[in-house]
Amino acid sequence: MKVLVVNAGSSSIKYQLYNMDDSSVLAKGLCERIGVDGKIKHTVIGQDKWECNIPMPTHKEAISAVIDALVDKEHGCLESITEIEAIGHRIVQGGPYFSASVLVDDTVIEDLEKCIDLAPVHTQPHLYGIGGCRAALPDVPQVLVFDTAFHQTMPEEAYTYALPYELCQKYKIRRYGFHGTSHRYVSGRALDYLGLDPNNSKIVTCHLGNGSSISAVKNGKVIDTSMGFTPLEGVIMGTRCGSIDPAIVPFIMEKEGIEPKDMQDWMNKKCGIAGYSEIGSDMRDIEAALNEGNERAELIYKMLSYGIKKYIGSYAAAMGGLDAIVFTAGIGENTPIIREMSMEGLEFLGVEFDAEKNAAYPHVSEEVLLSKDSSRVKVAVIPTNEELVIAGDTMEVVKNNVKYERKYFD
Ligand code: ADP
Repeated sequence: MKVLVVNAGSSSIKYQLYNMDDSSVLAKGLCERIGVDGKIKHTVIGQDKWECNIPMPTHKEAISAVIDALVDKEHGCLESITEIEAIGHRIVQGGPYFSASVLVDDTVIEDLEKCIDLAPVHTQPHLYGIGGCRAALPDVPQVLVFDTAFHQTMPEEAYTYALPYELCQKYKIRRYGFHGTSHRYVSGRALDYLGLDPNNSKIVTCHLGNGSSISAVKNGKVIDTSMGFTPLEGVIMGTRCGSIDPAIVPFIMEKEGIEPKDMQDWMNKKCGIAGYSEIGSDMRDIEAALNEGNERAELIYKMLSYGIKKYIGSYAAAMGGLDAIVFTAGIGENTPIIREMSMEGLEFLGVEFDAEKNAAYPHVSEEVLLSKDSSRVKVAVIPTNEELVIAGDTMEVVKNNVKYERKYFD
């Protein structure tokens, strides 16, 4: 089965075409400047990248451009568009409604529309992307795969904030967690790779990228995760502040005269690694500054690894033990110093980290074990593959005709 995976943002659409017979990627690309002018960057695997300016006033034209590129005689890889049997969409926020991937129908769209308030920056573009696909390929089944779904197993005490009950209910304020598709993939792979018992396993997964989140996965189910109502909570990130004392927010607003809507932007884009270091959000730039003796760059390393370590310790306590720690995503796969610093001092938990082996893997492209043979807690890097999970779920949901059953009523 050939599955098109779509990740629609406000002015861009990323896509990958999978052949699920062997889980290979046939083509991938990016439509950008949607609503401005429009450009497609398209690559058939094994061939050169092809770029073209195509007017994309809305997401519908962008999806049409993707389809045209895929069947293009010169730059495409499909004989006919009928070869695409299903489309899978990455959806950032499924709210309290969605705890698994679902086939798109009108009820699903209705409930996804209710998530707009919870994640306005992402949900509206997702709806445009789905609408664009429905318009361009009306007979092709579409599936939604949610970043929040894997976290829906958290117990109430982990996902509830101590705010007035009425407001929590009214605005659906709770911890949702994000990067669920990645946490699900790497924790699932860890069971196989590390030979753990799926029904008796305690894993902490550390997804460290521009946005970072850490999850406690006990017996295959998330029991806690560091991101919260929004992706702002948790460890420090590229441009997001991570967890801070909430009183700092009105304090800065008052002192600096910042309006609520601008404060959202400020916390998401002006803080974190970039904000404090005044160097940038990219760990490669922080590393370069560190090598030049920049003290704040050094502090960033300490702050991030200290934050990771605190989550690992608290999640080991929450799970009543620990079998494995998994690193993944841009920083997890490419920054050995962060891995080493966050493992320092965890011997008391049963972690014996192989620092020499770690240093030999500045860039990890396949699964690698970084703990010593004698280590009771295994430490591994498992490169994430969210698109493959989306393609796999899409195939399963379509094959099994998994219809959405509304379980949460407002
Ligand atoms: P996103 O959350 O945008 O998907 P990524 O998972 O790509 O983010 O992670 C981005 C971070 O990973 C950046 O801080 C970047 O420095 C780091 N990173 C990504 N690739 C590399 C690499 N090849 N070498 C060093 N660092 C990298």
